[in-house]
Amino acid sequence: MTLETVRIPPLHLTLMRIAAQTAAPEEACGLILGHTEEAIAVVCAIAPSLNRAEGDRARSFAIDPDLQFRLQRDLRGGRESVIGVYHSHPNGKAEPSPRDAAMAFEAGFIWVVVGVDGAGETVASAHVATGDTGGEAFRRIKLLSN
Ligand SMILES: [Zn+2]
Repeated sequence: MTLETVRIPPLHLTLMRIAAQTAAPEEACGLILGHTEEAIAVVCAIAPSLNRAEGDRARSFAIDPDLQFRLQRDLRGGRESVIGVYHSHPNGKAEPSPRDAAMAFEAGFIWVVVGVDGAGETVASAHVATGDTGGEAFRRIKLLSN
């Protein structure tokens, strides 16, 4: 079954937008928890992370490895798991960057990108990593929030 849609509860999408606004001019990031029901990924929680990127955090992000490790350990064997990542683009563009494509090695992983502009306006989009290293790294999916 091909993933077509990610459903994010309004609260969690709001929290992502606030994180994007708060972190600007740096990128915010975090992990997305949930499960998949056929073509729909259902988000149950998000886990904000410190941006651990060692370079320019205005243009890159890295999830705290300790957070990722703890979540994967605590969720093991359960219904919910880490299904994706979210991060912000302080340049306002809600599209994955070439740098993101280079990090999208896990096929099926969901990427939510929140663009935030200088006025604090946000726009969010959702993508799934294709795992195709020779072609497009991402395929856009529908972001539902209700
Ligand atoms: Zn990015």
